[in-house]
Amino acid sequence: MVNKDSSSATPASLRRTHRGLMLSGIQAKPGVSRAELARRFGFSEMAATRIARDLLGAKIIEEFELPEDDTGNQRRLGRPRKGLRINPKGVLAAGITVSAYFSEVSICNANGKTIARREVNNSSFEDAAETARLYANELRDLIKDTGIDINRVVGVGVALSAKTTLDRSEIVRSEYFGWDNDGGQFWDEVRRNTGLPVVIENIANALALSEMRFGAARGVSEFSLAHIATFAGVGAVSEGRVVRGASGDSGRIGHFRSHRRPLRCTCGRDDCLNLSATGFGLLAKLGKLDHGAFERSKLPVYASALLELIDDDANTAHLSEAGGHLADALDPLAKLLAPQLIILNGTLGANDAYFKGAEQKLATEFGYGPDSGFRLMKGEVSPAEAASLLALHTFCYSDRLDFERLNHSASADDKGAAYA
Ligand SMILES: [Zn+2]
Repeated sequence: MVNKDSSSATPASLRRTHRGLMLSGIQAKPGVSRAELARRFGFSEMAATRIARDLLGAKIIEEFELPEDDTGNQRRLGRPRKGLRINPKGVLAAGITVSAYFSEVSICNANGKTIARREVNNSSFEDAAETARLYANELRDLIKDTGIDINRVVGVGVALSAKTTLDRSEIVRSEYFGWDNDGGQFWDEVRRNTGLPVVIENIANALALSEMRFGAARGVSEFSLAHIATFAGVGAVSEGRVVRGASGDSGRIGHFRSHRRPLRCTCGRDDCLNLSATGFGLLAKLGKLDHGAFERSKLPVYASALLELIDDDANTAHLSEAGGHLADALDPLAKLLAPQLIILNGTLGANDAYFKGAEQKLATEFGYGPDSGFRLMKGEVSPAEAASLLALHTFCYSDRLDFERLNHSASADDKGAAYA
């Protein structure tokens, strides 16, 4: 997110970039010193000190006394050493998760911890603008009811099963919801109804970015995340950035060729991975569907039936077999991208039997082991958390932090306290 290329930078944009880098550095290593941050990012110590002073003034970070190390050295040197850390209450971020599985609005603090959440009861996802308004209004109410200072909320992340463009904030394709080419309508409804900056992102990409900053992929810059629920999709990260492709429509592993089934994929074929390695395929196989082609009006039915199915131990072998089908797609993915890590997430991807099925087939059929290729891991971030973490990633730990707004609210706070 942070643009390190300073060839066309103005002093103001450079300051924003440096703030984003410093904040990311402090978040990744609480207790870090100004001097260490300066060294790591190639600033002068004076520049690092100035940025730290700004961030302290705006109450985005705080200074604390480091515990003595084992040798007791620092006491002998006189002053106790101090380090910087994120002020968890200094920055908050909001999330909207549009899903038949995790339908909720939430707020997290700067360390990514959820501090408030509310389920959103939606029965239909037919209309994009109407759905956007419903979630945005629930979020606005949640902020109001919890008494959170909206001036500390840096923005809203929207995570959903759709491919989006970040530059135009548009949904370009959603096989799941059917909201293709919405012209930025969803994004705009949330922005207007909350009054906050908004980022809208595919759930697999949102999970990948969340795992990179707060979860299983911390410090990993080459990895892929497969989100498996009703359907399958991948968020691929290379050099710390999501691989978007020319159209933003990358990661469509659900349409990789797989076994032929008496079913119809959203694309019209009968041999997509979406029909064998996913919730939709499992439900059909176990006779839980009275139809063979995906129907959007049944999204909540698919979700509740899949949750019921994975809860039943009698289905372990079927779950494991579906995970095995996914392995057929993970093998070419690994060969193409050579990731350090492949993370499975989503209602089905995080299921134990499904995960083991994938792991086992990768070992027996494709020869992957502990010393070869990538590590297969389960995700640590819940799909419900990914939306607000996406907002932190985009609007706090980046050059898009609205420092002036936070600084203004911090000094208004101080004045309030003085008069109280
Ligand atoms: Zn297909």
